[in-house]
Amino acid sequence: MKKNNLPEIERDLKSKNVKFLAMVAPSFVAEFNYPSIVYRLKELGFDKATELTFGAKMINRDYHRKLKNSKKLVIASPCPGIVMTIKNKYPKYFKNLIRTDSPVVATGKICRKHYPQHKLVFISPCDFKKIEAENSEYIDYVIDYKQLRKLFRKYNVKPKKCEILFDKFYNDYTKIYPLSGGLGKTAHLKGVVKEEEILGIDGIRKVMKFLDNPDPKIKFLDVLYCVGGCIGGQHTSKKLTVAQKRKKVLDYLNFSKSEDIPEDRKGLIKKAEGIKFSGKCWFD
Ligand code: SF4
Repeated sequence: MKKNNLPEIERDLKSKNVKFLAMVAPSFVAEFNYPSIVYRLKELGFDKATELTFGAKMINRDYHRKLKNSKKLVIASPCPGIVMTIKNKYPKYFKNLIRTDSPVVATGKICRKHYPQHKLVFISPCDFKKIEAENSEYIDYVIDYKQLRKLFRKYNVKPKKCEILFDKFYNDYTKIYPLSGGLGKTAHLKGVVKEEEILGIDGIRKVMKFLDNPDPKIKFLDVLYCVGGCIGGQHTSKKLTVAQKRKKVLDYLNFSKSEDIPEDRKGLIKKAEGIKFSGKCWFD
């Protein structure tokens, strides 16, 4: 079965025989309003909806641990565009890619544990992420932002003022993950890697420029393929500038800090107990 199969998802969403859980990429907020997006997903037939911030928090812990014990250059691996560029054009750096799950795979593992009967649908900003999700046993289906907009239009599901929240796994500070340098800023690396040893780069041209002529001082390369980070992904809307989208992510972060989230909806470490987030990755 092909995972990237919109008609199939559409049919099953309407059938009500299968329960679906939507996992939206963290850049969603630059595209759709929150919490209206949750209402709209549920109108389409999704039983549950969550974002990837808790998965990001859990993999940050792994980055922290691995960076602490590493002597060589470590390259972040949540962006499959970067992973594939390194694999194809810079194979000598392939070993430097960190073998830790991306937030989507980590969240897939967490959702499998808590919702074993649900089909997990990842909603992606780009085709690279779709390829990654298609290679993961923890994701059942994947669609992108454009396809989601198409579904909203087809079923006339408009934004609405509402109080419907994500069902589970809230974490506030990792909401900046889709921005350039978001991983490095949220992985609590103080005392692990010096600030001047961390380099955040967005945009593949700049990344390649660095890899062609690396600075030996850099110990951690926090890189994203698209200009601006995931808010610049190929299936994101071009109506807003990168700066406007960035502001929406930061506004969402500030808003989330004031949200009163009940304990059972929070992304608490104990909820990921028993799950392994490091080891062989989809690109190995
Ligand atoms: S930076 Fe771009 S290519 Fe990489 S995961 Fe984000 S949207 Fe996809």
